[in-house]
Formats: sequence, C-alpha cells, structure tokens
Amino acid sequence: MLDDVIACPNPDHGALRHEGDSYVCTVCGAEFEVRGGIPVLLPTVQHG
Ligand SMILES: [Zn+2]
Repeated sequence: MLDDVIACPNPDHGALRHEGDSYVCTVCGAEFEVRGGIPVLLPTVQHG
C-alpha cells in the first residue's frame, strides 16, 4: 500500500493517514491533497 511508504514532508516525518480525498499527518496534522491518485507532499512548515 502507498500508505505504508509515504511520510510527512515536514521535519516530524510522521505517518500519514488517508482521510477522504487527502492525507493527514498523524504527528503535525498537516493535510495533503491527492491529485490524480498521488498525494502532493509539499512541506507546510515555513522556515525563517
Ligand atoms: Zn507532519
């Protein structure tokens, strides 16, 4: 399963939970939309 491989792109690298049409990080709660069946894993934490 894809769910087993992907992780949060934020520093916590938490596991992602499939929720509806998106993935939600179980650690920081960031939400990632799925486009064409592929989760868009862009970091949501801004540095600086
Ligand atoms: Zn996270």
